[in-house]
Amino acid sequence: MIGQLIFALCFAGSLFFFSKNAKQIYRNIRLGRAVDRFDKPSERWRTMLLIAFGQKKMFKRITPALLHLFVYLGFVIINIEMLEIVIDGLFGTHRIFSFLGGFYDFLIGSFEWLALAVLLSCLVFLIRRNIVKVNRLQSKELDHWPKTDANLILVTEILLMSAFLMMNAADLKLQLYGFEHFKSVGSFPVSQYLLPYLPTSTSTLYMIERSCWWFHIMGVLAFLNYLPYSKHLHIILAFPNTYFSNLDPKGKLSNMTTVTNEVKAMLDPSFTPPPSDAIIRFGAKDVQDLTWKNLLDAYTCTECGRCTASCPANITGKLLSPRKIMMDTRDRATEVGHNIKKNGGFVEDSKSLIDNYISREELWACTSCNACVEQCPVNINPLDIIIELRRFAVMEESQAPTSINNMFGNIENNGAPWKYAQMDRANWTQQQ
Ligand code: SF4
Ligand code: SF4
Repeated sequence: MIGQLIFALCFAGSLFFFSKNAKQIYRNIRLGRAVDRFDKPSERWRTMLLIAFGQKKMFKRITPALLHLFVYLGFVIINIEMLEIVIDGLFGTHRIFSFLGGFYDFLIGSFEWLALAVLLSCLVFLIRRNIVKVNRLQSKELDHWPKTDANLILVTEILLMSAFLMMNAADLKLQLYGFEHFKSVGSFPVSQYLLPYLPTSTSTLYMIERSCWWFHIMGVLAFLNYLPYSKHLHIILAFPNTYFSNLDPKGKLSNMTTVTNEVKAMLDPSFTPPPSDAIIRFGAKDVQDLTWKNLLDAYTCTECGRCTASCPANITGKLLSPRKIMMDTRDRATEVGHNIKKNGGFVEDSKSLIDNYISREELWACTSCNACVEQCPVNINPLDIIIELRRFAVMEESQAPTSINNMFGNIENNGAPWKYAQMDRANWTQQQ
């Protein structure tokens, strides 16, 4: 009874803290401007099913895709097992779903194979990160916490899967001994091989089974509460993020509503822009000037680096890394969120996304080629953020690199990006 009570308290506490942290992330995402991503629901569902559930873009690289698929399936399917663990924990039962008979055996057997696949995949991932040192996982922006975060997640998953298999092995041995309520149920194709390494004393076996049970469930609850602080949040956010993907043709830059309204007002003095389009500033200086989708992108980023590995600016040694753009945006949104929480509203902190997090050099290194957007396995768009920050630099501060300023001057004076006067445009048609 005491065990049930402790379990119920831990379970309720972890759900409470998770929902509290989730609400804060939701509030941070809502800091962004409005953008309509609720049209074409059938196309959106299709995109989400293909990209998030189907992992379509992951399969551009088969080995990491397969390993990731195991971890993903393991996460989704083994969590069905959690339902049984939670019910057992709350009501003091043991393997409550065993009444399913043969189907239960099939389920437990599948969970064990998946647990083994997850465990081995995580081991390979650890080796790729720390021993083989795959290039895209070694950038400067991953130093310190991001690297620790990634390793922590992998080690936790290995420990959780090991505890799951060890719990089953102890359970099976107790079943074979006919110990108390451990009736013969389930199929254990993987954990049966652990039996020779377990002690023969039933009281020790029972202790191992219970310890692993508690470790597994407490580990999962702790993991749930760790998600909001980790890149692993993508296991939840990948679904809404792909649903709200930009469905416009790739590479199409959005018009600025504020500019469109200004032009409309110039052409038609009676035109009054809707209040929701009131100009705060052109482009984006800080996270509040981006859209909520940009911020959802930032919180969904898995820090996998596929974008950076395909970025021509990064490949040619420029400072720009689209992954860092997303990490900086997330970090700044979190900082603004803390500011609001502490002060009951945003209090100016003399910081902004541009300059304090993302430098001009990074911004102007972008060729707007769209490769990062194309590569991202969860449809994140770093280019959108870069363009908005550039728009701010140009339209609000009149700051752009000299080469671009020359082009602006030419457009203004000659109606074309070149330095020739309009009347000389057709000169090239004349024979010399
Ligand atoms: S759009 Fe910019 S950031 Fe993205 S890959 Fe191309 S150059 Fe890099
Ligand atoms: S933006 Fe996409 S591709 Fe780039 S690191 Fe994040 S998840 Fe990976």
